[in-house]
Amino acid sequence: MSTKHTIVRAGLETLYFSGAHMLMRPFLGGIGAILMLHHVRPARRERFQPNAQLEVTPEFLDRVIRRLRRAKVDLISLDEMHRRLVARDFGRRFACFTFDDGYRDNKQWAYPILKAAGVPFAVYVATGFADRLGKLWWLALEQVIARNDRFSLIMDGQARHVVCPGVGAKREVFETLYWWLRGLPSEKTLLDTVSDLAARHGIDLAKLCAELCMDWGEIGALARDPLVTIGAHTVNHVMLAKASDGQVRNELKLGRSVIEAALGKAPEHLAYPFGDPTTAGPREFRIAAELGFKTAVTTRPGVLFAEHAEHLTALPRISLNGMFQDTRYIPVLMSGAATALWNGFKRVDAA
Ligand SMILES: [Zn+2]
Repeated sequence: MSTKHTIVRAGLETLYFSGAHMLMRPFLGGIGAILMLHHVRPARRERFQPNAQLEVTPEFLDRVIRRLRRAKVDLISLDEMHRRLVARDFGRRFACFTFDDGYRDNKQWAYPILKAAGVPFAVYVATGFADRLGKLWWLALEQVIARNDRFSLIMDGQARHVVCPGVGAKREVFETLYWWLRGLPSEKTLLDTVSDLAARHGIDLAKLCAELCMDWGEIGALARDPLVTIGAHTVNHVMLAKASDGQVRNELKLGRSVIEAALGKAPEHLAYPFGDPTTAGPREFRIAAELGFKTAVTTRPGVLFAEHAEHLTALPRISLNGMFQDTRYIPVLMSGAATALWNGFKRVDAA
């Protein structure tokens, strides 16, 4: 458990036990929230799970749905959210469920629960993953470190030898390499570095995609259910803010047209890959609006306010984070109190 997670958990606990989130709710509660998930699957035994914040269990998803229903929160589609924002129809609080990337476990584990409960949801598909051309580089990095106690790589032009015999060392190495890779000025260097590491350690990136991500047949079967919205998530899952204007436009346009060609309907909603301020900013928000997306979501933390009607391509989300699978946190997160603290009480963050 990293210090960062311990601090966030302590904050959530304090807000819950002090009841402060209830007191703050009239000021911070907003009109609703977009919930963000990635993997939904049973808990795994491995102690080294550096990407664990990206997965929750099916039981947790089920409990969250029940909890929101008990709290009289409307569970709605992205189209309905868009309608309410534009029509300023804020009579009832709402939540939207969204799943990023297009993982097969969404269909296997999340869909039956959402279907049984009649809950609409959206899956943002990166078309390269469905086409088996994408690179799940953060998972490849996890596998290299999990399976090897020592390996070498080129970092900033220098050969480095990494030794990571235990779970603690592996966690540290992952954190360091992950954020070094995320911080590289060019995404090509990132992908070359991880592709080279993967190739030298017998990890097949195309196979990783095929194992974890839905193919077009599976996505098409989901898309036929009126509960399901398929959203765009670019072709190559790129850090858009590091790309040229032309590349950003191409990724957004091509991501949309590939889905349209496969499913017969162009997606109208978008999620920016990674989606934090270092990967999606004002330029991306503007281009998404110019290309006609009805809404676009970031991973900036926050609940929705009426003002977001003016920022439909810069919407915040609430992460249902695998590190905090406790339904006591749900009212705290939905109250807006926790994210208000993170955001310095700023309601809209679109800069
Ligand atoms: Zn993604």
